Amino acid sequence: MPRRVVIDRRMTELLRDDESGIARAAGLLREGALVAFGTETVYGLGADATNAAAVAGIFAAKGRPRFNPLICHYDSAEAAFRDVIADDRALVLAAALWPGPLTLVLPRRPDCPIALLTGAGLDTQAVRVPAHASALALLRAVGRPVAAPSANLSGQVSPTTAQHVLRGLGGRIAAVLDSGPCSVGVESTVLDLSGPDAVLLRPGGATVEAIEALIGPVLLGSTPGAALRSPGMLASHYAPSLPVRLNAETVTEDEALLAFGPALPGAGAVFQLSETSDLTEAAARLFEGLRVLDGAGMRGIAAMPVPYVGLGLAINDRLERAAAPREV
Ligand code: AMP
Ligand code: MG
Repeated sequence: MPRRVVIDRRMTELLRDDESGIARAAGLLREGALVAFGTETVYGLGADATNAAAVAGIFAAKGRPRFNPLICHYDSAEAAFRDVIADDRALVLAAALWPGPLTLVLPRRPDCPIALLTGAGLDTQAVRVPAHASALALLRAVGRPVAAPSANLSGQVSPTTAQHVLRGLGGRIAAVLDSGPCSVGVESTVLDLSGPDAVLLRPGGATVEAIEALIGPVLLGSTPGAALRSPGMLASHYAPSLPVRLNAETVTEDEALLAFGPALPGAGAVFQLSETSDLTEAAARLFEGLRVLDGAGMRGIAAMPVPYVGLGLAINDRLERAAAPREV
C-alpha cells in the first residue's frame, strides 16, 4: 500500500538530495504536493504542472495576489518540446544554452498536457531545463513538467538556500530538497520566442550577448512594440472576448454564468468553479471556465462573487482584469 500523504501538513520535510531524498521528493510531487528544490538560479517551489489543483497550491502557499504565468522545468529539451512548439531559434538556443539559466516562451502544442493555470491562461508556456544535477535527477524521477516560481512568500526575496525556503514557507509546503546554496543566485533570463521578434522579458543568468550571438538581435521588453509583451502586461493579457459582469446576484438566459457555490438559476450556460466554494478548486478551474463560457454563444459572462481571502485575491484580480474596459 502506498503511504497516504497529507499535503496540508504542519511540518515541512527537509530532504537530502541523495537517491532516497530525490525519490521521496518526486513521489510527493507526483501526488500533487508542493516541493521546493534547488536549481542553479534560485530555489523553486515545484508542483506537477499538469495538475491544476497542485499549481493552485503554489499561489496559495506563496500568498501571491495574482496569477502570473509560471515556468515549467524539464530534464531535457526533447521533453520540453513535446509540450511547446520549438522553431529554429529555440532549437539553436536549447542546443547551446540548455541545461542553463534561459527560459523560453513558446506556443503551447494543441495537445499540451500542462494545466491552463500554469501559464495563466495564455496560449504560450515558459519552459526551461536547469543546469543542476539534483534538479535534473528530480525532474527525471517525476517524469512530468514541474511548474516552479521562486520558493519565497510573495513580495520577499528569492531564496538561494534551503534554510531561506524554510524561513518563508516552512509549514506551508510538503518538503524542501536541500542541494546546498545556488551557484548563479539570479533568476533565469526569460526570452519570448512566440512571435517573429525575440523579445527579452527578463534579464537573468544567460546574457543577451550570448543569445544574440546565436540567433541575432533581441528586442528589449521595454522597446515600443515589444511593450505589450512585457511580463506584467502579458500576465494580464488573457481576457475573454465577451463582456464580464462581476458580483452577479441574478443572471439572465442570454448570459453565461461563472458559478462559485450553488449556481444562480436562469443562466443560458453555466461553468461551476466550485460547488462547495473551495478556493483552490476554483483557482484550478478559472481559466478553463473563462474559455468555455467565452465560447458558449451568450451575450456576456456573469461572475458570482468570490470572497477576498486566500486564493480569492488572485481569482478576483483576474476577474477584475477580465471585466475592465479593454485597452485596445
Ligand atoms: P518566476 O516564476 O518568479 O521565476 O517568474 C517567471 C517569469 O517569467 C515572470 O516574469 C513571468 O511573467 C514570465 N513568464 C512566464 N511565462 C510567461 C509567458 N507565457 N509569457 C510571458 N512571460 C512569461
Ligand atoms: Mg519570484
